[in-house]
Amino acid sequence: MGPTLTSMFEQTVAKYPNKEGLVDLRLGTRWTYSEWDEEVNRLANTLLAEGVEKGDRVSTVLFNTAEFATTLFACMKIGAVFNPINFRLTAQEIDYIINDADPKVVIFEKATAASVKGIAASLPHITFWSIDERELEYAEHYYRAIEGAQAIRPNVEVDEDDLYAIMYTSGTTGAPKGVLHTHRDMVDQALILTATLRLTPEDRGLSVAPLFHCAELHCTFFPRIMVGATNIILHHFDPKAMIDTVREEQISTMFAAPTMWNMVLQEEFNQDDFATLRQGLYGGAPMAPALTTRLHEALGVQLLQAYGMTEMGPAITALLEDEQISKAGSAGRALINHEVRVVRTREDGPADPEDVCEPRELGEIVVRGPSTMKGYYKRPEATEEVMFKGWYHSGDIGSFDEEGYLWVSDRVKDMIISGGENIYSREVEDVLFDHPLVVDAAVIGEPDEMWGERVVAYVVPKEKSLTEADLEEFCTSTNRLARYKRPRRYEFVDELPRNASGKLQKFKLRESQGTRT
Ligand code: ATP
Repeated sequence: MGPTLTSMFEQTVAKYPNKEGLVDLRLGTRWTYSEWDEEVNRLANTLLAEGVEKGDRVSTVLFNTAEFATTLFACMKIGAVFNPINFRLTAQEIDYIINDADPKVVIFEKATAASVKGIAASLPHITFWSIDERELEYAEHYYRAIEGAQAIRPNVEVDEDDLYAIMYTSGTTGAPKGVLHTHRDMVDQALILTATLRLTPEDRGLSVAPLFHCAELHCTFFPRIMVGATNIILHHFDPKAMIDTVREEQISTMFAAPTMWNMVLQEEFNQDDFATLRQGLYGGAPMAPALTTRLHEALGVQLLQAYGMTEMGPAITALLEDEQISKAGSAGRALINHEVRVVRTREDGPADPEDVCEPRELGEIVVRGPSTMKGYYKRPEATEEVMFKGWYHSGDIGSFDEEGYLWVSDRVKDMIISGGENIYSREVEDVLFDHPLVVDAAVIGEPDEMWGERVVAYVVPKEKSLTEADLEEFCTSTNRLARYKRPRRYEFVDELPRNASGKLQKFKLRESQGTRT
């Protein structure tokens, strides 16, 4: 019996029973660790009474709420497999995941009810609980279900190798796949992140990025609980509310996706608002170096980047606070206990993890680490495809420099091939972000009779006066982009399609022009 997320939580409760553990600003609740633990036990006992057994799935379609956090630990206490679903998905997408995961109970809220309602009608064998006093014609009320339940610890043995969760990938590059993680995977990830972020019980962490995504849940939420820090949760992201919360709740550490930080930069604030924030984490998607610099200067906060993927826990590398300027644009170095390689790609099969690239030579990023997934749920072939010779093949293209810093160039699927030359969309996007009137940018390829593909840039301008000629002139004058890499066409848009975790959905841009997805 090794350590589990359950034992980690219970050790913190035992050590800091009277310390503020969970603050939900939507409900106005401020639970100590022991009050939170009692709530968790009540729900765990209710789930047992509902017939949920070890290994059964429990899904949530919840924003950042205390009920999300309580369900998470209640599942752990009874060995149920937690399945957090992205609240921004359409009814059809949620239906796909619920049918795939086949949970016994689904917990949702008013804000996600419209997507859940039809599914509840078509799957009568599943119990639906609403955390709000509405939608009760097809669901039971979560609070009425747990009313009167005992707050004592349920007597279920959970082992380190038991599954803790099924987390579905964002579906950025195809249908979402259920990634299986055990307790042990996440204990290791939390330990490594606790050390990397140098967390202490005095920390006050804000969860404003979606908790259903592993970047927020595994890289910051679990590590904070492991050390007994205080967790403040904001229902959803709003840049103004985030700034106010950092100030009012004296937040010391938090994660946000690059696009969220970019939205904060468009708000009015002063550096005093961020006076207590010792660390601003970013990751989950590339952040242009120009944006990192703007952020650092405007907020006066130390930044730290993590790079990874759901399948790996997710974090595999980090660019630390003091490396942000000297290595701007890099994803940093491998985390403790992780091996990261860049290997030569092959036309006829997966890249061989032993065929390692030279420094600065581009290849596929492959990785081995303690938090590697146990496979994709019900998809052995898909698992075999990405796990080759014991290494996870990320589908990301990158290189190492001579000092062992990783540079992520692109996803293989986003790479543009023009006249036989590879163009990495991120390289072009990084240059566009350097223009002071560019708020957001995405680069994709569109078909070209002569060259196969040509570069198109979608740009969100700060001012309407920005023209195609300005950007063309800028891209030429920086001398950083060879002619074939420069966009042949620009489209000015109000916003770019992004998912709930802030990732660019380039397939939507491609769909809008009727090209490859
Ligand atoms: P799907 O697998 O369904 O396409 P997804 O790949 O978006 O979804 P995630 O696991 O959420 O699922 O995302 C992992 C990917 O996000 C990485 O492979 C990489 O392309 C990108 N990414 C994550 N962190 C960073 C970062 N710091 N810099 C650049 N890219 C990043």
